[in-house]
Amino acid sequence: MRAVNRLQDKVALVTGAARGMGRSHCVRLAEEGADIIAVDLETAAEELDETARLVDDLGRRCVTSFADVRVGTSLDNAVEHGVSQLGGLDIIVANAGIYADLAPSWELSDVAWQRTIDINVTGTWLTVKAAAPYLGSGGSIVIISSTNGIKGGASTAHYSSSKHAVVGLARTLANELGPLGIRVNTVHPGSVATPMILNTAVFAKLRPDLPNPTQQDAAVALAERNLLPVPWVDPVDVSNAVLFLASDESRYVTGTQVVVDAGLTQKV
Ligand code: NDP
Repeated sequence: MRAVNRLQDKVALVTGAARGMGRSHCVRLAEEGADIIAVDLETAAEELDETARLVDDLGRRCVTSFADVRVGTSLDNAVEHGVSQLGGLDIIVANAGIYADLAPSWELSDVAWQRTIDINVTGTWLTVKAAAPYLGSGGSIVIISSTNGIKGGASTAHYSSSKHAVVGLARTLANELGPLGIRVNTVHPGSVATPMILNTAVFAKLRPDLPNPTQQDAAVALAERNLLPVPWVDPVDVSNAVLFLASDESRYVTGTQVVVDAGLTQKV
């Protein structure tokens, strides 16, 4: 039995909850006793239902809502609905994000730049804006950044800028909310086995030397970036860091960055 109920009867909001790491965060927090407000785009309705089923199977409640994190009113409605159903809010996991349209800075389209900034930066701010007023002392905000929020990378000007920006947001929020007993931290995953990177477009970027690179081909390139002999970490490895920051085990940890990257950022 894995659960030790570190989040017994807490309520956690998770954006981008339909799949990938968002789903993993919902399940991991529910395993520890939390009820979940799971938010994602309406286009991900079926996958969001599956997330809710997984939480339900753990004996916890999951209230799902559709919201585009770029639209403040849709987040306001989702949070209000979830809080009214579950009775409060203790944890915010601002997870929704995109990694798309990779290109050298000078070739990046204005549309690609703006879309990434809108979802990854403005969407994170709007998530906190909608939900933070419901938190009380002991509350925790976890913002999902990236190793691209610590170092740059080729063809990721928009993404790296967005993931650095949310660190500034988190540090500011930590100052603003610290006096209220609310903590704010960022998590910085390296490569994680989710649909975000396990797709043919990313494989092609990773292996330009091959005509039709497979996941196995991409794994070779990704493993070379890490200190540990793995191509990627699993979503649950990141969820375990989220769990730590969400729980009282980290009660005096705020304004900091937790890196889960198999050593990617330290490799020389
Ligand atoms: P996925 O693409 O697997 O999942 C992202 C989720 O966010 C999807 O369900 C997606 O919905 C949703 N989403 C996208 N845009 C919006 C929006 N405008 N409003 C609401 N929901 C939205 O990604 P991951 O799980 O891999 O990534 C989660 C977070 O982790 C992101 O912030 C990402 O940048 C970060 N990250 C990921 C890494 C990785 O290697 N996977 C590495 C470092 C950081 P839909 O499917 O309908 O588009």
